[in-house]
Amino acid sequence: MALILDHVTYEYGSGTELLVRALDDVSLVIPDGQFIGLIGHTGSGKSTLVQHLNALLVPTSGNIYYNGEDIHDKDFSRKRLRSKVGLVFQYPEHQLFETDVFTDVCFGPKNLGLDRKETELRAFQALKQVGLPDECFYQSPFDLSGGQKRRAAIAGVLAMKPEVLILDEPTAGLDPKGRDEILGLVSSIRKESGMTVILVSHSMDDVAEYVDRIIVMSRGGIRFDDEPKKVFAHKGELEEMGLSVPQVTDVMYALREAGWAVGTEAITIEEAKQEILKC
Ligand code: ADP
Ligand code: MG
Repeated sequence: MALILDHVTYEYGSGTELLVRALDDVSLVIPDGQFIGLIGHTGSGKSTLVQHLNALLVPTSGNIYYNGEDIHDKDFSRKRLRSKVGLVFQYPEHQLFETDVFTDVCFGPKNLGLDRKETELRAFQALKQVGLPDECFYQSPFDLSGGQKRRAAIAGVLAMKPEVLILDEPTAGLDPKGRDEILGLVSSIRKESGMTVILVSHSMDDVAEYVDRIIVMSRGGIRFDDEPKKVFAHKGELEEMGLSVPQVTDVMYALREAGWAVGTEAITIEEAKQEILKC
């Protein structure tokens, strides 16, 4: 069932001079099984929003519901929520802290109270799922490459068998190859498991090809929430928010301005090719 934000506002430094309203009256329904791209430039409120979904932050006002239950009700188990709504942090260094990768990935399932055998089985499965080579299992997480650290952090969340997987800027700091590998991995995890995935990024190019829905944030609010093609139709407004449409879409816009009768909806290179061949 769904995750729902109902008129959620969040202020950092409430009651001080340093007050920042990071979320401003955000309402949102996230149904099961959707692959969502959450996009916005730095400071737009993306990380603040996703930290509400697993109760790491408590709204200043408004409510959050998971499967029809208010996650801040007295009897609601937030520990269980965090195993069902798994968040991979923006900086994997904030998530990895054990002496070796395997122990790190065991942390979540162990904390859920699973016995050692089940914990270790889940950790092995999760590490295989993210494609980390065996020789990494007993290394310090801090000796891994940027891409491998991301994989280890993702494995730590997958080992809890979440229903919702949230990745906060999983491609930040990676080179183009590392970026494509992580996006390919996330997409294949989604296909295999059918779980809800929320991928946070400041780049439309990261999500355009993969997601069912794009939510665009700016200044703590939601500006667009629609299927990718419909969002990219707002090229001018996106640019005003410091965002750009995917490169392929941008090329189609340029061709159109140059007088070619092409549609501007193409997202993938293949779609662009077909559109250009039509002329
Ligand atoms: P994003 O993830 O889109 O970059 P954030 O959710 O991190 O955006 O930040 C939203 C706003 O809240 C920004 O203005 C940011 O400076 C502010 N902010 C984020 N974290 C804190 C914090 N711990 N204390 C005070 N202000 C914060
Ligand atoms: Mg962020």
